[in-house]
Amino acid sequence: MCRHLAYLGAPRSVSHALTDGTHSLFEQSWAPTDMRCDAVMNADGWGVAWWPQASSAHAAAGPDAYRDEHPIWSDPAVRHTLTHVRATAIVAAVRSATVGMPISAQACAPFTDDGWAFSHNGVIAGWPQTLARLAPDVPVTEWMRTSAPTDSATLWTYVRHELAAGADPATLLSRVVTELCAQAPGSRLNLLLSDGDSVLATTCGHSLSVRHDADGVLIASEPTDGDPRWQPIDDHHLVVATSARVEITAL
Ligand code: GLN
Repeated sequence: MCRHLAYLGAPRSVSHALTDGTHSLFEQSWAPTDMRCDAVMNADGWGVAWWPQASSAHAAAGPDAYRDEHPIWSDPAVRHTLTHVRATAIVAAVRSATVGMPISAQACAPFTDDGWAFSHNGVIAGWPQTLARLAPDVPVTEWMRTSAPTDSATLWTYVRHELAAGADPATLLSRVVTELCAQAPGSRLNLLLSDGDSVLATTCGHSLSVRHDADGVLIASEPTDGDPRWQPIDDHHLVVATSARVEITAL
């Protein structure tokens, strides 16, 4: 399944966040080491969202985003354009499409809207019916029309809908994971959600690790290097992080 990553902290180039480390997200696209499913690589596109470093005259807005349906290793933007883009918050993902789901840029996380970026590493068993049971008021057909026809994109449509209605992000992600686990056993629900100031991450069926240091916080499906400060997150947990603080609670 996909690999994803979030960074909050001192300004750095988007490219650096993708390629830094002996086991960067870039490398995890073709040589992941902890997939916990049948997939062996993440070659079905990729995406990144970032909150730009604020200039002196303008407050940082965002996120901006870039997504492509080709493997990240074949994309010159990584080694060229994105080296010139600096950000204080970054969410990125490399995708291994679930069997039966389309390969398209639109289907690649992170999905963005209204200041949020969202990524899903995993699968929703019995999608779309099981997801529709979580949100009976939102017709499946509307989800399919407004987003890519994948479990992750329709889950984002629902999460986005709830955030717009004023849901607390941590409560929302906890509820989504808990209820989907009950209604769709066998689902894998490693989620990432950021507004550029904080990152929320869940573990449900896939690997996740966190590294917190003076420069900020990095949350990734697999540690991007051999630094002993990487902390593996147990399954069925929620991570809530800012650049200054990381809290980990059981779901
Ligand atoms: N099910 C999602 C998709 O097909 C996520 C896949 C994954 O995590 N590998 O896009």
